[in-house]
Amino acid sequence: MKRIGVLTSGGDSPGMNAAIRAVVRKAIYHDIEVFGIYHGYTGLMNDEIKKMEIGSVADIIHRGGTMLYSSRCPEFKTVEGQLKGVENLKKHGIEGLVVIGGDGSYRGAQKLTGHGFPTIGIPGTIDNDIPGTDFTIGFDTALNTVIQAIDKIRDTATSHERTYVIEVMGRDAGDIALWSGLADGAESILIPEENYEMSDILARLKRGHDRGKRHSIIVVAEGVGSGVEIGKEIQEAMNMETRVTVLGHVQRGGSPTATDRVLASRLGARAVELLLEGAQDRTVGIHNNQIIDLDINEALKMPHKVDQKMVQLARELSI
Ligand code: ADP
Repeated sequence: MKRIGVLTSGGDSPGMNAAIRAVVRKAIYHDIEVFGIYHGYTGLMNDEIKKMEIGSVADIIHRGGTMLYSSRCPEFKTVEGQLKGVENLKKHGIEGLVVIGGDGSYRGAQKLTGHGFPTIGIPGTIDNDIPGTDFTIGFDTALNTVIQAIDKIRDTATSHERTYVIEVMGRDAGDIALWSGLADGAESILIPEENYEMSDILARLKRGHDRGKRHSIIVVAEGVGSGVEIGKEIQEAMNMETRVTVLGHVQRGGSPTATDRVLASRLGARAVELLLEGAQDRTVGIHNNQIIDLDINEALKMPHKVDQKMVQLARELSI
């Protein structure tokens, strides 16, 4: 293999730049030419493909977002769109591709491998919802953004007697809510993987109130539903002032944490190694602090699971 390509697709996440940098530098280290594909699968179909040099990825390791830009590209779900992409790659003499993105992007990568084009997936999403890896690139940074925000809300919360509901991202996964709720000592954490009883939330709030707590924090994953609606329900049931904060896209931005930069560097480098070893359809991940890889088709069949021990721990610590 003499030429490879790299693209970022779907929702961006902090640390994607560090992954691009690792792919580019690792390839050049092994005398492989690297091409950047701009705007994800849209740019792949429209031939927005440019050669990258060592300097192309200078000064990006600490920046959020993605210097290759990203896109959602419905047309890439069609076979015609995918074949157009393969044709463009071949036109530039590119023999293997690295796709950095979430599970939607992985499905695009899976289609490319189905057309016989060697493709490796790198998990880049703040949601931590990709099977086959303990952590995705961007999750740690998003988590730190959330806990900084909750810490600030806590400061103002102590000045008033109120209940605060914080809605966090995560799509259908509760990892951001669970980890940030645990890290911030939330009274209740609502995640889509677990049913919740409003009566249980109210009982916890009442217990806290009775022992003199001046404020309570409830973290709601967006996959559960609207934080605003849950806030209304609590306010009506408890007759206690309730404020809702929907953190939104602030969770996607910011300078990546050291953990995300290191993870991105390790995964990016491994993806290049796999292409050099002749791999056709793998995804890279981290498990027990070891970089692993597995079949992308198998990975996509595995359900994302939330850590039950963490769910239980959060319950026990917020009695
Ligand atoms: P993420 O990668 O963050 O999950 P999306 O779900 O929006 O983001 O997926 C990103 C892009 O991946 C889509 O816009 C589309 O171009 C491509 N994609 C998603 N699903 C498929 C599929 N089944 N087949 C081919 N491409 C897909």
